[in-house]
Amino acid sequence: MFNALVVEKDEESGKTSAAVKQITVDDLPEAEVLVAVEYSTVNYKDGLCIGPGGGLVRKYPHVPGIDFAGTVEESRDARYKPGDKVVLTGWRVGEAHWGGYAQKARVLADWLVPLPEGLDTRQAMAVGTAGFTAMLAVMALEDHGLVPGHGPVLVTGAAGGVGSVATAILAQLGHEVAAVTGRPEQEAYLRSLGATRIVAREELTEVTRKPLESEQWAGCVDAVAGAVLGRGLKQMKYGTSVAAIGLAGGAAIEGALITPFILRGVNLLGIDSVMQPYENRVRAWGRIARDLPMDKLEAMVAPATLADLPRLGAEILKGQVRGRVVVDVNG
Ligand code: NDP
Repeated sequence: MFNALVVEKDEESGKTSAAVKQITVDDLPEAEVLVAVEYSTVNYKDGLCIGPGGGLVRKYPHVPGIDFAGTVEESRDARYKPGDKVVLTGWRVGEAHWGGYAQKARVLADWLVPLPEGLDTRQAMAVGTAGFTAMLAVMALEDHGLVPGHGPVLVTGAAGGVGSVATAILAQLGHEVAAVTGRPEQEAYLRSLGATRIVAREELTEVTRKPLESEQWAGCVDAVAGAVLGRGLKQMKYGTSVAAIGLAGGAAIEGALITPFILRGVNLLGIDSVMQPYENRVRAWGRIARDLPMDKLEAMVAPATLADLPRLGAEILKGQVRGRVVVDVNG
């Protein structure tokens, strides 16, 4: 028997409830590799899946946790053997398949990557899906010509998980970072990660009828969409790119949309961490181990246990979590 955060649904009322329960290996979904999970994290999607699911969870009872790091215990796939350290992000684990909020998880070998050299399992989950996606965003901007020295890179939702890691990576790579936050009290935190400028969220949510504004940003990692992205797009420099990751501020992009693309040649790059091929995942984790300063990573992290998850799931949906939460599933 081992501990897991199990979400159940009452069929009559349709209400869901989450609680730490004891389950067995036989309860886990059938798959090739059994992993002794050490750490998982709290991402925005986890908040949805701990609650009513938001359309992500297909079947109850459910074990959420969209990412985890741990040690292989049993494997029917030649690529992994007992004792190997592994990381998992994506592939709808924690949504369509039971995830990392348990002391053991059984998953397909294709979904795993070996723990990158230079990171331990806790550090890998301090990065987690949010940080992995931030790295994918930076790599996409680089592939489209982003180099330091051409002006500040805008990071939205900066005090959140994706935004914190993106800020630290970009600063480490020598970029000026303009961090957009709705929490002015997080200014010192964001500056400690390397932000050179703090932009109040309201500056980018004020409605303007102008189709374009002064060129300011050499690139953008956007975690919020909505009004903030609509306004930020109008301020992009000619020929630059926006890596769009998430929609914490709304599913629509608001504003005069077409002008930045046709009059300034701005690129909108969609970033999806879920279905990344193995080679890309290994490349991104290698870059994380190389380009993300571990002292800054530590400054982002708050510890948690399985019992804290119902509270934290609600908090992340309200934008109240700062940086990254690392869940010690054995704690
Ligand atoms: P967090 O909740 O940690 O961070 C989101 C941040 O967005 C908040 O901290 C807040 O930052 C800001 N924010 C919250 N509400 C609003 C609002 N109404 N308007 C403007 N800004 C707001 O989430 P993550 O960083 O983990 O994820 C961010 C988004 O990225 C989510 O939508 C998530 O689903 C998505 N995502 C997508 C992935 C992909 O593969 N494409 C992978 C990972 C995440 P502040 O307080 O600084 O303003």
